[in-house]
Amino acid sequence: MPQDTHDGRVHCSECGSTYFYDAEFRQYGSGGGLSPSDHTWSTKICMGGHPLLPGIASSRSVEVGQSLEQSIHAAQEQRARMSPDRIEADLAHDLITQAEIQAATDRLHALETILEQLRQQQALDQAAPG
Ligand SMILES: [Zn+2]
Repeated sequence: MPQDTHDGRVHCSECGSTYFYDAEFRQYGSGGGLSPSDHTWSTKICMGGHPLLPGIASSRSVEVGQSLEQSIHAAQEQRARMSPDRIEADLAHDLITQAEIQAATDRLHALETILEQLRQQQALDQAAPG
């Protein structure tokens, strides 16, 4: 994620924070307790928790770079799912709107009217056969 430096300070492109802490990331193996990998990736994390992303290419191996990138994308996707806009969009996708429920109610009433007309016609037909 490119940072903005228009006033000579590094700004987080996500939240605008100009304060960061230095963070060092490494992978851990799960066999027989946590064992850290030799590879580390250092970056700066803003106060909002967003990483400054340059530096992936300088990772020591393609494999580390790829798994690091996967981790970053997974974390960013998780963060995106937590954003109010995304939550609202997901809810809009899953929930019915008032207009939609009104349209469905109108349609149900129309079907009930047709059904009632058919029942009345059937009763008339049975009362006067032939
Ligand atoms: Zn930020």
